[in-house]
Formats: sequence, C-alpha cells, structure tokens
Amino acid sequence: MERTTDLASLSLAELTDTIVSLGEPKYRAKQLFDWILKGRGFSEMPNLPKALIAKLEEAGAYVAGLRMVRKLVSSDGTVKYLFETDDGEKIESVLMQYEHGYTVCISTEAGCAMGCRFCASTLNGLSRRLAPSEMLLQVIRAGNDAGVRIGGIVLMGIGEPLDNYDNVLKFLRLVGAPEGLNIGYRHISLSTCGLVDKIDRLADEDLPITLSISLHAADDETRSALMPVNKKWGIAELLSACSRYFEKTGRRISFEYTLVAGKNDGKTQAEKLANVLHTYCQNMPLHVNLIPVNPVTERGLLPSNREAVAAFASMLEHRHITATVRRKLGADIDASCGQLRAGKK
Ligand code: SAH
Repeated sequence: MERTTDLASLSLAELTDTIVSLGEPKYRAKQLFDWILKGRGFSEMPNLPKALIAKLEEAGAYVAGLRMVRKLVSSDGTVKYLFETDDGEKIESVLMQYEHGYTVCISTEAGCAMGCRFCASTLNGLSRRLAPSEMLLQVIRAGNDAGVRIGGIVLMGIGEPLDNYDNVLKFLRLVGAPEGLNIGYRHISLSTCGLVDKIDRLADEDLPITLSISLHAADDETRSALMPVNKKWGIAELLSACSRYFEKTGRRISFEYTLVAGKNDGKTQAEKLANVLHTYCQNMPLHVNLIPVNPVTERGLLPSNREAVAAFASMLEHRHITATVRRKLGADIDASCGQLRAGKK
C-alpha cells in the first residue's frame, strides 16, 4: 500500500477531518491522536478496531515511526540518542536536564545544506528534510525513554530549521497545542544560521518562541569564510532582520558566537561584534552566547582557550552587551555535533 498521509504529522483538527471523511465517528480521531502522542504505532493502539486501522491503511494513511538505534549517557546526565526514520535516515537528539526541567534538542533535517565550515552535520550535505512527525517523535521518544515530562525544546540539532520552514511550523503548532504536548512556546528556541526571508516570515507567525542567531563573526569576510549563507545575506541584512523581528514580536533574540582560536576570538573581533550589534540592533536588549568550538576532525578548527573566552566576554560586557559562555553539557559524549550520524563515534 502506498503511504500518502502521515497521521502523526496532523493536528487533531486535521486528523478529525480524515477520520470523519472515512465515515468514522469523531471520537476515534482523539483516540488515535492520544496514541500518537504516546509514540505508539497502529499495532499498539488496543482500543482502535482492526477494521478502522485496515480502512486507514487502505486509504494510504500511516503513522510514522522512529527507532532508537543508540543511546549515550553522559556523566552529567545528558543523554544523546541516535534515531532511525522509517526510510533509514539517521538523526540525533539530546536530552538535557536544567534546574527547571528537561529540554530536548532535536534535529530538523537529515544532514544539512548550509555548509558551515565548523559543523559536522553538513559534511555530506542534505539528505532530506524531516516531517513534523519525525520531529515530534524525537521529543516523545526521549521523554518516554527517560520517563520524564519534557518542558522545553531547542531546534539546534542536525539541520537548518528555517530551510524546512513549513514542516517546522507544523511541528511547533503540534507541540504547542493544549491538546498536543502542550509545551509553552516560551520554552522553545529555534536556532538559525540566518535565512533572512524566513526570519521575516517567522515574525508574522505569532509564536512567542525564542530566536537564536548563529552569528559567529562580526564582519562579512570572516563570516562568509565560515558560513556560506552569509554570501546571500550579509551581516547588515541579517541584523536588520533581527531588529525587525524584535520590533514585531517583542521577543528577545540571542546571538550565538562560536569561538575558533585565532579566527574570530580576538579583541578586534569583539569590538567589531559590539559595533555591528549596536549599529543594527539598537532597539533591542543584546545578548551573546559564547561557545568555544567543538573540534571536528575534518574541519581542523581549534577552540579558544579559557583566557581568550573570558577576555572576549568582558569586552562585550564593557560595551553593555550581556555575554554568557554556554554551559557545556555532555562533553564526554560529544553531545552537540552530528558525529554519531556520520558514524564517526
Ligand atoms: N542550523 C541551525 C541549527 C543547528 S546548529 C543554526 O545554524 O543555528 C546549532 C548551533 O551549533 C549553531 O549555533 C551552530 O553554529 C553551532 N555549531 C555547529 N557546529 C559546531 C561546532 N563544531 N562547535 C560549536 N558549535 C557548533
């Protein structure tokens, strides 16, 4: 049977339409929806009649799956999962525990087309974009495996979320819906390398999520060398889009800055960073998250040392920009890099 409708990517309203169009009672949709939220497949939904499932399958409907292939547990409690989709794509997710609860970092694509020089996820390009269900299932599987309620999500795993815009938006609406996982939008962060047209679109969606911008450099020459996307939209265009986003949504934006020894971690760069932020984003509170780069063998880039990181942070503070150094969770299991997928670990 050809699979045409992924039921786990549908909202309750859409699922209800599907069920009703097959001549079945509405309450079946809610039953199905609740099983999907528990991460169950057709064979694990005991209160649904076999005839109904057969009818759904006949119509090309299916429930997407996601299989756990590997699990690495860090000494700090962070858990990294390698999952496999129905068609054999490998993706990674990370479960992190903070004081206020559990957050899952999810992948939005299998591979990535963006080509950032320091990133392992993009080494082999983009394989395909993930369906809303496949993002949802990462959250559900991690929560079920750990036996905890997931209170937050970060879209910072493999892939560029704004390159998979429609599916990511569907996913966000699914997890935020009160009848869905009911995770507050304020506890959801989306990180982007800077697709300006999509940032403008996102500003109109009325979703109070937190936007993170992977900036990583303060001048176009350095940024284009690290991030090819900068050749399409330079720093001025990107930061102006951030300013518009803040103007419209009132939501604070956080800037990610990966420190690479000798490349973008000097005093001059810190000054330049302060200058561009004050120039283009003067209407908003400024916050930079500093991340010493995770070395990726193929990339040959080294992290800045502790002194360089501290000096960079204090330069920014001096210019009235809040700077934090990202707390490193799961360092011993390489929790952040796309390397499990690449089969390197
Ligand atoms: N595509 C999105 C989200 C995925 S990457 C984005 O670019 O924001 C999540 C974050 O990890 C980004 O800030 C990315 O630049 C950063 N990152 C990627 N590889 C890294 C590495 N080797 N060391 C440190 N941070 C890295």
